[in-house]
Amino acid sequence: MTKPLIAITGASSGIGEATAKAFSAAGHPLLLMARRLERMQALGLPDCHCEKVDVRNREAIAAAVANAEAKYGPVDCLFNNAGIARLADVGEQDPEEWDETIDINIKGVMNALHPFIKSMKDRKAGTIVNMSSIAGRKVYPDHTVYCGSKFFVHAISESLRGYLAPHDVRVIVISPGIIETEVLDHVNDPNTLKAYKDNKVRIGGGISADHVADMIVFAYQMPQNVLIQEMVVTPTRQEF
Ligand code: NDP
Repeated sequence: MTKPLIAITGASSGIGEATAKAFSAAGHPLLLMARRLERMQALGLPDCHCEKVDVRNREAIAAAVANAEAKYGPVDCLFNNAGIARLADVGEQDPEEWDETIDINIKGVMNALHPFIKSMKDRKAGTIVNMSSIAGRKVYPDHTVYCGSKFFVHAISESLRGYLAPHDVRVIVISPGIIETEVLDHVNDPNTLKAYKDNKVRIGGGISADHVADMIVFAYQMPQNVLIQEMVVTPTRQEF
């Protein structure tokens, strides 16, 4: 095995799945993590270690990383992607959905970073790609806690970039607009869902997760002394 190991959280669908396929096509061994193990295994990718991991469980992530690294050597790139979008009218929303968003999109992001910050710093090598959103740069109606979680990703990415840059470790943040995935399947507020879907139709639909995957692989494949700090990608007609 000549190419280094890539770790991806939220690899069972959408952007994570597309990025797993793209890195695999580029010849990398993979560590794929998500709760739906069977979806990751069904991808049938070569040199691929799949583990059932909930990003709320720090120990489970650490164990999965140790198992994959024992087979393929150190993780050279973490795509910190797992996340949910419980969009809703915040005045009506069940606070359980706030808790779930914070636990997965904020604490889960930190949990996934934990095995890598010190090890990449010590090895003086590595790339971290944190998944934010266009909703991590500006606010949208009914995105209150989701926006908060993605603004968090931007803040910690900037801080980590400063911390790791002197050690040649790259921190990239990617902020997509509307991408065709399963992310809206769990929106429980019917008015919010209708408004989102109407807007999506108005702009001619979302774009494929494959485009996001290609951007991530491209940024990773730049020489280690070249850092694409931030990437924002939207459908052309998504004007804001
Ligand atoms: P999907 O719903 O298709 O994918 C989400 C992934 O996250 C799944 O693999 C899911 O796996 C995983 N996930 C969710 N909760 C957990 C958990 N507790 N533990 C482990 N894995 C978890 O949607 P996307 O591909 O769109 O979402 C990926 C990321 O992209 C998210 O962070 C989302 O916020 C972000 N994003 C998406 C945009 C879009 O328009 N689609 C736009 C901007 C950002 P499983 O359920 O098997 O655990």
